[in-house]
Amino acid sequence: MRITYACPACQATTTLDGVETRETLDCAACGAVLPIAADAIAGRGTDQPARLTRCLVCPSLELFVRKDFPQRLGVAIVVLGLAASCVAWANRELVATFAILFGTALLDVTLFFLMPDCLSCYRCGARYNGAGATGKASGPTAGGHEFGGFDLETHEKHRQIVARTKRLTSDPTHP
Ligand SMILES: [Zn+2]
Ligand SMILES: [Zn+2]
Repeated sequence: MRITYACPACQATTTLDGVETRETLDCAACGAVLPIAADAIAGRGTDQPARLTRCLVCPSLELFVRKDFPQRLGVAIVVLGLAASCVAWANRELVATFAILFGTALLDVTLFFLMPDCLSCYRCGARYNGAGATGKASGPTAGGHEFGGFDLETHEKHRQIVARTKRLTSDPTHP
């Protein structure tokens, strides 16, 4: 399993592989060490597949499942498709215009379904990819932790907590 997170000490984006075999998360930029709690990864050290039960960074229990799809790539495909169809439209190539638009949409949908799931933390934005980073419980001993898809209400809750914390720490009356 791979983790991508913003280091709480220096905010640098850090990517680490093989999280299930690690004891700590080490920041390559500032050297900050985050210990990984023993219960944060279920099935560790057993023959059961390792599975994330909560965020390793903040450590929130609320994670959501999403497609491991680079958003920029999706946007780039759509923009390129639109630009190409405009060129075709300007040249009065009606069939080509719609073929390009349809092809673009199909490519986006196909890529989306081919991409594996990954887990994201609502609170700190850490991302988890690979084996063990799934919403479904695997095996009978995997426990009751199951992560659902993105929930706007939960997202909003965490966003407000972060905003409030920022306001408190930047308030000059609370040094
Ligand atoms: Zn750091
Ligand atoms: Zn987190």
